[in-house]
Amino acid sequence: MAVGKTNKEWHLAHKMPRNPSEDERLTWHLEHAKSCACREIPPDMVELAVRRGLMVQAADTHPTAPK
Ligand SMILES: [Zn+2]
Repeated sequence: MAVGKTNKEWHLAHKMPRNPSEDERLTWHLEHAKSCACREIPPDMVELAVRRGLMVQAADTHPTAPK
């Protein structure tokens, strides 16, 4: 999946907390993925979401972002 357009308004309205907990990061990334395409969900967050049943996609089949 190619990295796409940044939804600046979404970013202004959804700042990542300064010291986010795992849950806060996960929620942020899941919401982010719905509203903005500037970056993909990091593999560790995908893995966490899959483990919690929030995403059905297996971590190893997720198209990973370029390093
Ligand atoms: Zn974004």
